[in-house]
Amino acid sequence: MRASRFVLALLFGLCLTFPDSPATAAAGAQQARLPTPEQFFGFRIGADTKLVRWDRMLEYYRLVEKASDRVRLRELGKSTEGNPFVVLEIASPDTLKQVDYYRGLQRRLYFQDGVPTESERDEIFQSGKAVVVVTCSIHATEVGASQMALELVHHLATDSSPRVQHVLDDVIVLLVPSLNPDGQMMVVDWYNRNLGTEFEASPMPWLYQKYVGHDNNRDMYMLTQVESRLTAKLLWHDWFPAVWLDEHQMGSSGARIFVMPATDPINPNVHPLVYRWNGLFGQAQGAALEAAGKDGIIYNSTYTNFWQGAMAWSGWWHNQVGLLTEVASVRTASPTEQQRGQLGRPPAPVAEGGRGGGRGGDAGRGPLPAPTDVMPRTEYPRPWLGGRWTLRDIIDYELVATMATLEYAADRRETLLRQIYEVNRATIEAGRKGDPSAFVVAPDAQADPLAAYRLVDRLQIAGVRVYRADAAFTADDKPYRAGAFVVPMAQVFARYAKDIVEKQSYPEVRRTPAAPPEAPYDVTAWSLGMLLGVEVAFVKNPLPESLALTPVPESPKLAGTVMGSGTVFSFDYTGPEGAVAINRLLKAGASVGVSRGQGGAASGAAVVEVTGVPLTSVRDVAAALGLQVRATTKRAAGSARPLKAPRIGLYQPWTASMDEGWTRWVLEQHEFPYTTLHNAEVKAGKLRDRFDAILFADQQANSIVSGNEATGMRPEYRGGIGEDGVAALQAFVAAGGTLVMLGSACDLAVERFPLPVKNLKRGLTRDQHFAPGTIMRIEVDTAHPLGAGVAARTYGFYNNSPFFALTEGFSSQQVSVVARYPNADIVASGWLRGEEHMAGRAAVVSIDLRPGRIVLFGLRPQHRAQTQATFPMLFDSFYLAATQ
Ligand SMILES: [Zn+2]
Repeated sequence: MRASRFVLALLFGLCLTFPDSPATAAAGAQQARLPTPEQFFGFRIGADTKLVRWDRMLEYYRLVEKASDRVRLRELGKSTEGNPFVVLEIASPDTLKQVDYYRGLQRRLYFQDGVPTESERDEIFQSGKAVVVVTCSIHATEVGASQMALELVHHLATDSSPRVQHVLDDVIVLLVPSLNPDGQMMVVDWYNRNLGTEFEASPMPWLYQKYVGHDNNRDMYMLTQVESRLTAKLLWHDWFPAVWLDEHQMGSSGARIFVMPATDPINPNVHPLVYRWNGLFGQAQGAALEAAGKDGIIYNSTYTNFWQGAMAWSGWWHNQVGLLTEVASVRTASPTEQQRGQLGRPPAPVAEGGRGGGRGGDAGRGPLPAPTDVMPRTEYPRPWLGGRWTLRDIIDYELVATMATLEYAADRRETLLRQIYEVNRATIEAGRKGDPSAFVVAPDAQADPLAAYRLVDRLQIAGVRVYRADAAFTADDKPYRAGAFVVPMAQVFARYAKDIVEKQSYPEVRRTPAAPPEAPYDVTAWSLGMLLGVEVAFVKNPLPESLALTPVPESPKLAGTVMGSGTVFSFDYTGPEGAVAINRLLKAGASVGVSRGQGGAASGAAVVEVTGVPLTSVRDVAAALGLQVRATTKRAAGSARPLKAPRIGLYQPWTASMDEGWTRWVLEQHEFPYTTLHNAEVKAGKLRDRFDAILFADQQANSIVSGNEATGMRPEYRGGIGEDGVAALQAFVAAGGTLVMLGSACDLAVERFPLPVKNLKRGLTRDQHFAPGTIMRIEVDTAHPLGAGVAARTYGFYNNSPFFALTEGFSSQQVSVVARYPNADIVASGWLRGEEHMAGRAAVVSIDLRPGRIVLFGLRPQHRAQTQATFPMLFDSFYLAATQ
């Protein structure tokens, strides 16, 4: 064995690593020059209260790359706030020297270059590596994994034990040491600022990703944020790893680590082998942790196997093993102390509110209550019983779990490759047989043709191959025109493509027949076509053999045009791009009006009429946005309602509201200028002088008024808008301003104005009515100014927010229901308990208070920037406010 390897080394002129060879001694000497993280940073990683900041981490990784021939650093791009977003490619020097060859094998494993020949397939099994991506600390307050990565890299770069050699020889590690560099630095700075003060546990009052905070792990199908896109590119365009480990932290008082498998329900579109491998890897982690004497390892808990949207989990539909670890948290880097419990003897229940939480502002310095989950069982054989828990403990657990993942991948390399190959082969084979064989999106059949392009773009970012039909064709007896987008299921990521557009049916889980159904982990619906307002047609039978398909280039665009001649321009307002066009043209000084259209491409659609700008400006806007503009010499008969650029104030609480962040994202993407309003600015009043519309994102009414009053909160961020703020909002409306309330924020207006509207969601128990994220059918009054740009029948997103009945009001109040739920068959995708309560009820209400206005969005018009079909309703509320 040794002789033959030596011969090989001579043949290829490579330095294979022998424990006693001169080459290794030289490499060892070189690697010895690499300081340990402790030497480099001056403290042991994970020491109490000590954190390394991302910029310093990068310095260390650059040093490692120079010192070690086992590590290569690649910058994938810049984060949202312009920081380097990197991956470390770690493997034996021989592997790294031929890294493109191995990446090629991996691409072939995922059928990227067609079906491999038999010899290519055998080459993959024989020579391919187990490619494992490890992603750290997307949730920046979950600091452990990014800190751990420093020691992991040093270990892999310098250790010469046979086990590490085995990993380096058989695995290619793709380590993303931070999925959220911006947030990492924010959290470290915030922690250091408060360290040693009474505010050490004070929650950070802003989001740890500029726009989306914790929802950065909810973006893997809409793929809006650059971090999501860079990850998608690494995973589904560049490397195609077979295994993805994403490392998180959870609450502080229960199990010490969650490992896979996750819990029911499972998703029908994931191949069973993926679930099997999730379990195998998770159990390998658990076994390694047990062997290291660690307590409190749990699986089959909390996190469901159903949901799309999170990082590693989105890998399942891409035929990738996707692993989550969740380790118990400390208070950022400050240790926790927990009272000790008794094995098998849960403590008596404590009244609501009697428990100190792990992360809240008042989570005191005193010990946490004893653990309640102390019953040993199959998925939790050795429960955690309390005691001291430190950042170093988190890092130790994560190091063991990560190395176990890599060693298991090395041990099972060939089996892993063979079985993932089988999953990929079977996926393509199933698509060839049909049922379904494809889905078709015909852009010219859509109420909003541009939405079809947006849908294709998202699919392509996620690695799905999309084609256009070269000629008209018939499938399942249905005719399609040339140019229709076709997504064949005979492709490796067909499971993802299918799951992302079809209707979701969430299988209720009851642990016993008498037990209530368990709530889903996150949303239950993500049908992308519905969210975008695009009709998707599944084809059951095999596609016609004569059908010629052309691959769609990256980010396909509809060509914008200006047809006809004259200085009066008009275009159909059928979706969000219409609002972008309006904003650009208003900014260019145009006179812009909107009317309910008689003709146009989409009959009944609102029509935007533009005068007072040169053709070139209109042409630029049309070209950039893909608009079909008509030029004429005469204005249309009837009057268009003039539009003005709205002055928008967006309330930003100090409670780090994700919905506020998403709202900012949506406003910026659609070029609505806005001003952020904090408590002090709302309280200061005189709001009408500055704003036409003031917007409150989803937030409980009492939270808006009172904020976070916890004594552990830094004083400058305590409290809400207070009674002064409420009075200022009342004065704003009385002076003609428009309040736009989203989700739970509606209650503030309903309670404080008062309005002739009742929130029917209030008072319903969870057993009576519950929907943690469901796509609903809605009927929109397109004759109302808020209905412009929206289809008359479309889809809205509902997430346990209000829905309304109208009540007797003052004669001065003119109430319009802009969108309502149908009388039957309300749920379009996902899960809802208590549908009957919503039948025929109002989803969006506009109340003209003469002179002011209040708009209540019970449905969530901009939820996670996903609900694009309803974006225009939100935008219209600003336009209407500007002319109120
Ligand atoms: Zn997390």
